[in-house]
Amino acid sequence: MPPLDLGGAPDQVRALERRLARERAARLEAEAIAERVTSELYETVRQLTRSNAFAELLGRVAVQANESASSVDAIAAALTTICAHTGWPVGHAFVLSVEDAGTLVSLGVMHAPADGSYAEFLRATAGATFRSGEGLPGRTLAKGEPQWIADLGEDDNFPRRVAANACGLRAAFAAPILVRSDTVAVLEFFAPGIQPPDEGLLQLVGFVGAQIGRVLERERAEERLVQQAMYDSLTGLPNRVLLMDRLRGSLARAQRADRPLHVLFLDVDDFKTINDSRGHGVGDRVLAALATRLLDALRASDSMGRPTEDTVARLGGDEFAVVLEDCADPEAVALRIHELLRAPLQVDDHEVFVSVSIGSTASTGQDGRPTPDALIAAANVAMHESRRAGKSRHTAFEPRMHDDVRRRDALGADLRVALDRQQFWLAFQPVVDLASSAVTGAEALLRWDHPERGTVPPDEFIGRAEETGLIVELGTWVLRTACRQAAVWRAGGAADFTVAVNVSGRQLKEADFAEVVRSVLAETDLPPSALCLELTESILMERDDAAISMLSELRAEGVHLAIDDFGTGYSSLGALRTLPVDLLKIDRSFIRHLPDDDDAGTIAWAVIRLGHTLGLPVLAEGVETTAQCDALRRFGCDRGQGFLFGRPVPADELGRTLQAAPG
Ligand code: C2E
Ligand code: CA
Ligand code: CA
Repeated sequence: MPPLDLGGAPDQVRALERRLARERAARLEAEAIAERVTSELYETVRQLTRSNAFAELLGRVAVQANESASSVDAIAAALTTICAHTGWPVGHAFVLSVEDAGTLVSLGVMHAPADGSYAEFLRATAGATFRSGEGLPGRTLAKGEPQWIADLGEDDNFPRRVAANACGLRAAFAAPILVRSDTVAVLEFFAPGIQPPDEGLLQLVGFVGAQIGRVLERERAEERLVQQAMYDSLTGLPNRVLLMDRLRGSLARAQRADRPLHVLFLDVDDFKTINDSRGHGVGDRVLAALATRLLDALRASDSMGRPTEDTVARLGGDEFAVVLEDCADPEAVALRIHELLRAPLQVDDHEVFVSVSIGSTASTGQDGRPTPDALIAAANVAMHESRRAGKSRHTAFEPRMHDDVRRRDALGADLRVALDRQQFWLAFQPVVDLASSAVTGAEALLRWDHPERGTVPPDEFIGRAEETGLIVELGTWVLRTACRQAAVWRAGGAADFTVAVNVSGRQLKEADFAEVVRSVLAETDLPPSALCLELTESILMERDDAAISMLSELRAEGVHLAIDDFGTGYSSLGALRTLPVDLLKIDRSFIRHLPDDDDAGTIAWAVIRLGHTLGLPVLAEGVETTAQCDALRRFGCDRGQGFLFGRPVPADELGRTLQAAPG
């Protein structure tokens, strides 16, 4: 067919060609647009479906997390879900180590095909630890956000490369599990083949990490609550609540097996002194160090079966309990504890010596079937017995101890009332000069007229008053009453009369003791030299510097100081020389067997000599017979006190004697 001859109209042809070309271009453009729109649309749709899947996945992880019994379960579920969703075969979790802060260790939770195809890599992973910045987990920890490694072969901060390579793993990504903004664990995933970064996926695991973080946070809050409710925050030991709970179980087991269960009750000796003199912070740290020492003692003790940390609990304050299941010899455990406490506790660069009084009881040594409470109570009673017997020892419970306690408890409660109701009064016992037989003064001795029990001797309540601290107030009352009385007698003619007042060690722990003495002297207008404070050897031997310097000050002001019950304590000669004292009072026990017993005679004579060598006058207590008095005179004893010269009597009675034979 000949070309179309459009004759003499070439312009029209060209116009047509141009139109066709335009139309083609427009069509192409439309097609391109359509293509672009389609692909954009497609991408949108893809993204939408994907984010839908993401949303669904996230929802699934969230539900799993919430339903998981623990964060570990939640993590395991998340690993499985994410691996299934992405098709990445390996998932694993690292957590921050409890022992070594800042180090990630395997949580031991992994997702991998069961055929063992990645076994080598999983082994390397299980044994690996990472510090911040190190490897994929360390980098995730350092950055606190998801990380992607497209090609492990190209990454020079991936220590597990060899193992990964051996299994054909090539790409990885990881995300932190965040509690608040702290990374506490890292999820990581691995796949074969190089994988370009997928921002959407990274975002997804980021969300998952945050989701699990919330589970962890909840779990930790719960743990904290349990911890607070069941454990003592200071020592980390189980508290009383948990102890009683465990004790119930142990007791039931022991009763089923028909074997005894032992409970030890421990109380720190003189803990109040540590607290008062060194501050509560030190006191707290002493308790914490002691808890560790107790655990050491129990671990080191073979005699107690299988010790676990749970067998030691802090009951509160300075009281601890040990439950010994399956232990034949609780005495040995107590001994071991005392032995280990011979070495000082290390507290803030200081060495602190601490001893404990221990009481024990056996579940079989009780009336009937004891309850946990009854066991603790019995061990506590036995502990008090140890304390009274001189501390730092062990006592096994005996049923009669309960009655003693009941009596003492009743006393303790009554003491406070007694002070308020003025049931106390002072008896005065004369002190005589042995050479002249003249009364030079008297010792004030506390008496309690109990409304039901009649007159209670001080030995029965002073200890209790010391324990409750009431002795401080009571002691001040004694001091004031005695000084006031002495001032009256001196004004009435017994011009050189001196009064002796017993002072408890507890009173000397009060920083204002010297001040109290001064103000009482001023208030009663008694010269300091008319007052003699009686202190026992053990008080003076405690070497409480603050107390000693207070006493030295008082002595410098003229107050006399006597060592009471001399010979029953353990003063060394060296210590005696340096102590601020003016008088030795020989204990009654050395006088009792005079003059028949040669040994008693020798000791009395030696003590008198000792006093004189130190330049101190000596007073003999408990002189009951003229034979004793004669012997003491022969030995050169300076003063005497005892029933021979006069019993402790009310003030007015002694006053009459003084008037009959003044000074
Ligand atoms: P102490 O200081 O050794 O007091 C002497 C005790 O021996 C008194 O007992 C007294 O009655 C008794 N006694 C005196 N002469 C004889 C005697 O010839 N033969 C016998 N067998 N006993 C004699 P008391 O009054 O029962 O006091 C006992 C302890 O109570 C006192 O021993 C003292 O350590 C303490 N005490 C008494 N009053 C107070 C006080 O106000 N404060 C403090 N902290 N302790 C006090
Ligand atoms: Ca005395
Ligand atoms: Ca005495």
